[in-house]
Amino acid sequence: MPGRHTPGLHPLGHGAYAWLARTGSWGWSNAGLIVDGDTSLLVDTLFDLELTDTMLRSMRAVEPAARQIDTLVNTHANGDHCHGNELVTGAEIIASGAAASEMAELPPEAMAALLDAAPGLGDVGAYFQHCFGQFRFHGIKPRSPDRTFDSELQVQVGDKAVQLIEVGPAHTRGDVLVYSPSDRVVFTGDILFIESTPVMWQGPVANWIRACERIEDMDVDLIVPGHGPITDKHGVVHVRRYLQYVRDEARARYDAGMDAFEAARDIELREYSAWSDPERIAVNVDSLYREFTGAEAATDLWELFSRMAALAGYGTADSARPPNLRLP
Ligand SMILES: [Zn+2]
Repeated sequence: MPGRHTPGLHPLGHGAYAWLARTGSWGWSNAGLIVDGDTSLLVDTLFDLELTDTMLRSMRAVEPAARQIDTLVNTHANGDHCHGNELVTGAEIIASGAAASEMAELPPEAMAALLDAAPGLGDVGAYFQHCFGQFRFHGIKPRSPDRTFDSELQVQVGDKAVQLIEVGPAHTRGDVLVYSPSDRVVFTGDILFIESTPVMWQGPVANWIRACERIEDMDVDLIVPGHGPITDKHGVVHVRRYLQYVRDEARARYDAGMDAFEAARDIELREYSAWSDPERIAVNVDSLYREFTGAEAATDLWELFSRMAALAGYGTADSARPPNLRLP
């Protein structure tokens, strides 16, 4: 088996595969394939059509059952896990109800427009290009799930019973784990970022911690994260401890009267500073503050990207907001 960091298709045993992106940073997501006989289930598509096409060709080259994917599961609504859906023709697409409704909110055209505008948007525009400039969002036709579920759903892949387990809201509103007990593998979507910093768009953090504990209790050998190398339960424990640490540090600063961005700048990242994209602490603390205050409305994405840009060294956090772009 290739090393756990090697990009491309990784056989994980009898009829299970991981597709690993070349990095774990912004938009570079992993995916998975489960087959039995001539039946196949794909876990997630990728951020653009070219990346998804390359992945599907690679899967079809080694696995005849991947020529016609029967079921596609989108683990959540972020575009790096569903923008390639239109290429998986003929598959039934399944997601949680919460993920399906979230998918419509930041369509690929909005990403394309924002990237087109980015060169005129100062430091935040430059940061946005750093995060997303390597992807092609023009011409993507979003394809929504055909079937949704809440809580849990079992899907048959030949003789394998694959469990879809909704653990969100956490990273997003409708996060799902794809667990194949007969392969002793779980595909976690963005409940796990390995060697890159988790980003909590939604919360509550307790759900995410519980999701980690649920994975820690599973009878599995291999764990495929949404971003980063294939891992085991030690990797899950690191993610859980990051979440617990940031929760406690943010709470102490909230109680001391700091605002969310001040707190994000003030928290010492210790060993977690070795992970890529540490500036995501700005989003994580903001989401935690929403929990602490009971606020309903999310801080808008432009503001969050402004804060991350500042932490990542792209100038100050006060770039002008683009006048003609609407973000959720
Ligand atoms: Zn992702």
